[in-house]
Amino acid sequence: MSENGHKVVELPASITVRDLAERIQTSPIEIIKQLMANGVMANINQEIDFDTAAIVVEEFGYEARPMAPPEAEEEAGELPRWKVLLSQEPEEALRPRPPVVTVLGHVDHGKTTLLDAIRHTNVAEGEAGGITQHIGAYQVQHNGRLITFLDTPGHEAFTAMRARGAQGADIAVLVVAADDGVMPQTREAIAHARAARVPIVVALNKIDRPNANPDRVKQQLADVGLTPDDWGGDTVVVPVSAKERIGVEDLLEAILLVAEGQDICANPEGKAFGTVIEAEIDRSRGVVATLLVQNGTLRVGEVIAAGTAWGRVRAMFDFQGQPLEEAPPSTPVSVLGLSEVPNPGELFERVESDRQARALVEERKQQAAQPARRARRSLEEMFEAFQAGETRELRLVIKADVQGSLEPIMSSLEKLSTDEVQVNILHAETGNISEGDVMLAAASEAIVIGFNVTADQAAQRAAESEGVQMRYYDVIYRLTEDIEKALKGMLAPESRRVTLGRAEVRAVFNIPRVGKVAGCRVLEGELRRNANVAVIRDGEVIFEGPVASLKHEKEDVREIRAGFECGIGLKGFEAFHEGDILECYIEESVPVG
Ligand code: GDP
Repeated sequence: MSENGHKVVELPASITVRDLAERIQTSPIEIIKQLMANGVMANINQEIDFDTAAIVVEEFGYEARPMAPPEAEEEAGELPRWKVLLSQEPEEALRPRPPVVTVLGHVDHGKTTLLDAIRHTNVAEGEAGGITQHIGAYQVQHNGRLITFLDTPGHEAFTAMRARGAQGADIAVLVVAADDGVMPQTREAIAHARAARVPIVVALNKIDRPNANPDRVKQQLADVGLTPDDWGGDTVVVPVSAKERIGVEDLLEAILLVAEGQDICANPEGKAFGTVIEAEIDRSRGVVATLLVQNGTLRVGEVIAAGTAWGRVRAMFDFQGQPLEEAPPSTPVSVLGLSEVPNPGELFERVESDRQARALVEERKQQAAQPARRARRSLEEMFEAFQAGETRELRLVIKADVQGSLEPIMSSLEKLSTDEVQVNILHAETGNISEGDVMLAAASEAIVIGFNVTADQAAQRAAESEGVQMRYYDVIYRLTEDIEKALKGMLAPESRRVTLGRAEVRAVFNIPRVGKVAGCRVLEGELRRNANVAVIRDGEVIFEGPVASLKHEKEDVREIRAGFECGIGLKGFEAFHEGDILECYIEESVPVG
């Protein structure tokens, strides 16, 4: 109840008339009337903005309060595991933590050089003893604030982590060479970052090159939806030279700025967990694993489990090789003491005891021994996923032979989006289907569409092992029709059973080469050839299945009415008894909405 005695209703930035009516439990007609009274003509499916909705609900005795915009990534089934765990921490215990940054971009655009430049510029001298250590991540300071960099450039690592649902980066730095511009892997990287809903900061690299052309690259960035902020967009583009170490501080400044808008938090006192960055066996030290702590504080002596690896943390080092006793959130550490080499991207978590770790690992091993459940989805399976409320998005990666076919495909597919189900094109480009395309699809539970193209061998292998569906088309109309069908399927989840008639079995005949058929008399309604039959005996359904044959006297018939005799055969059932009741029915789909 609000101060003025009104009931409070939380509303999003925009809402359909239908949903608004439901929120305040009135009929949509009443809402439409109110809107009209306020000079707004709206139909039931129309979106109205918060301010308009607020005026309307007031008439119904409600006070509207803005609802926090739902994080798109909070859709069920889409959150990486660590975020699910994080969401279980009490909100008041959350504290800001350093942002975790990954560096992506086209090959040779300078990712490695940039990561080196950042490390050398901003890691305090004197501690340089361990600077040559590469543990897969490091931390730098800028104006007294820490930033964690994942030091495994290239989206292969990023994809591998995402494919395991454990992507740990908060921000992606996209390296684009000023003398080369947006290239295929640049676009792929953008698609990855977008699919993971990670904000992008562009490092416009190699500005020292005489043929650098920043304006041309900015235009290209704008064309792919990353309009630079100095052009009125909201993508921060920082000119840098990784080689000459120019602009590095500006880049760090930009990262911290973007981080501020991101609510990057963890509970340092909570359950310790995070992501495995890298792991290997060292001859003298055993398993060495680089872990990124994402919540809680990891301490030497604690027991952790990651996949089927577990162990007591025997020793812990920072990225410079200095021993550490404890590691708060966003700290990359290398730890000794695990029983086996965990997979990069695997979630690690602190457990109470050796015993608990062993039990957990045992359970995981047993699960792993079971036949692999296909995690990814086919177009056909998307329907079920939608019905189960697991997803409201059909994600696609599209490859086509020429730009000229790509554009109409994309525009006609985008038109298929409805309020309920969105078509989300993660990546669209010309060329054959590559392994990268398949990995992107695997990481995002997307389907790969090939238009007049094929998949190379690596892509086929990857699709096989990752369970990614690839669909090929050569006519745009067929492609959009299929997608539309899938979406319609999504929108028409219900089918209704319509009973057509009932018959009673009077005799059972054995027809050579056909099997047993039932001689019946139709009691009411009709029996139909293109329908199903439920066999009811003593009040119980003992079989249901399609009609195989329907005859009146010697003639095949399509239907037969009450009062007539007929012979009927069923697919998959012969054990008729005299006195069985055959109930004939059809399934009718009921379109929703
Ligand atoms: P990666 O494949 O993206 O990791 O690219 P690298 O960091 O290996 O760089 C590719 C090449 O570009 C190397 O020869 C670098 O020396 C060069 N390079 C990287 N950054 C710059 C830069 O800012 N200016 C110039 N002139 N060359 C650069």
